[in-house]
Amino acid sequence: MLDPSIAILSVERLSFCYGEQPILADLNFQVPTGSFTGIIGPNGSGKTTLLKCLNKTLTPTDGRVVFCDQDLRGIRVKTLARMMGVVPQQWAADFAFTVREVVMMGRFPYLHALSGEQAADWEIGRRAMEMTKTWELADRPITELSGGERQRVLIAQALAQTPRLLLLDEPTSHLDVSQTLEICALMAELIRKQGLTIIAVFHDLNLAGRYCDNLLLLKAGRIYAQGSPEKVLTVENVEAVFGVKAVVRDEPNTGKPHIFFFMKNRLKSKTAF
Ligand code: ADP
Repeated sequence: MLDPSIAILSVERLSFCYGEQPILADLNFQVPTGSFTGIIGPNGSGKTTLLKCLNKTLTPTDGRVVFCDQDLRGIRVKTLARMMGVVPQQWAADFAFTVREVVMMGRFPYLHALSGEQAADWEIGRRAMEMTKTWELADRPITELSGGERQRVLIAQALAQTPRLLLLDEPTSHLDVSQTLEICALMAELIRKQGLTIIAVFHDLNLAGRYCDNLLLLKAGRIYAQGSPEKVLTVENVEAVFGVKAVVRDEPNTGKPHIFFFMKNRLKSKTAF
């Protein structure tokens, strides 16, 4: 039994193959309710595939995902969309929907065939836009927004689903530094103020270390390390998984680990990046 007040999601012996090709092997972990969990690892290690197994886009070849105490296979797609919001890595915004229209798409899992949005739906959409500071963009076409604004709109759409768990695939990959910090601060605030649980794939280890309280480090489709940033972001783990030398220091303001990377042959000259 999985107690949802302790762990909202549990992954048990999960494996996944594309055809004959094994991609994920024997993954076991739990996601504490109200936590910010980061999935990290080199390109091709299986991060996106794992996220797709968690949101039912892909069905595990073996093992299972338990979400809110139910086997994910038994949860209907529409029901799942009321419990889990997904923010994809890319959203092809080639049609000029307004921000309000995009956000209200998040209410689709709640609408009945013959009746459109009710006052309560518009109110939930408005609150999702206020939380993400996109209310003032409501009438703008999404095609005209900056990358950071667009990302906030997609988070608003997911929030309009009133989910308990939010999954994001590299939410900051196309953003500049200030937009990146803004999105990370927003995710942290959603956990603190709305009681959400968030799982996000991160490319940037230092961002993951700063904002997440729980990390999963993947190497070639297996979990190499999991736990707090202090436990996972060690010199030994970074070298074993990414093949680069590093030093780890505590960030002065947060006490969280910060990694400085070195080209292997430059270690002596201490050229960090
Ligand atoms: P990551 O997100 O860590 O970069 P992915 O989950 O995207 O890794 O990919 C893991 C592995 O699965 C890679 O080797 C990739 O080439 C392979 N892969 C991803 N999508 C497909 C697909 N649709 N068909 C076959 N192989 C795929």
